[in-house]
Amino acid sequence: MPLVIAMDGPSGSGKSSASKGVARALGLRYLDTGAMYRAMTWWMLEHGVPVEDAEAVAARAAEPVLESGTDPDSPTIVVDGTDVSAPIRTRQVTNAVSAVSAVPAVRARLVARQREIIGAGGIVVEGRDIGTVVVPDAAVKVYLTASEEARAARRAKDLAADPAASVSVTQAEQARRDRLDSTRKASPLTKAADAHEIDSTELSLGEVIEAVVRLAKE
Ligand code: C5P
Repeated sequence: MPLVIAMDGPSGSGKSSASKGVARALGLRYLDTGAMYRAMTWWMLEHGVPVEDAEAVAARAAEPVLESGTDPDSPTIVVDGTDVSAPIRTRQVTNAVSAVSAVPAVRARLVARQREIIGAGGIVVEGRDIGTVVVPDAAVKVYLTASEEARAARRAKDLAADPAASVSVTQAEQARRDRLDSTRKASPLTKAADAHEIDSTELSLGEVIEAVVRLAKE
């Protein structure tokens, strides 16, 4: 059976860099499921769908055509033929994504697509519900955490081009997103019982990658 490594955790815990690094180190593909929820959100905003209206979002959830690249060196996400890798990272999308990802019709569609991609071979998959819902029998499950301050500082660095994205604003927005992601009814963010928890607050990226690679080789 091809190796599947599930990497879950809250925003800013360092999942993306660690997941890509692990995929490179082990010669595996990489799937960013958060990018799929962001792309769905970007599409809803582009089409004027009120994202806080779950029924309106559900009614259109089957429309966008999503294509996810799985190369850890250049992960791409294309919606209806447009590469949205950059626009899905704006604050507007970031602040709307929790509402869209809480809609069961959105999750059903994206989880089905994720399972198709995962089924094609060895892969590192990052998200919120990979070890609990998408691939509950993944060979390696990691739950990556970091202190709230460390997570907000990382996110603010990602958003450095946005002058309004100070550490304190980012921290408040991130706390809100984590609260929504962990209290929603559909697949809330939670650590799988058999996941290995890694706290990255005091670890370098290389140390996190090494720890996951070690687990994969056990
Ligand atoms: O990982 P990232 O921060 O890009 O994820 C964006 C959002 O997508 C999360 O805040 C969450 O609402 C949603 N998400 C999810 N399930 C996943 C991955 C992401 O609900 N597996």
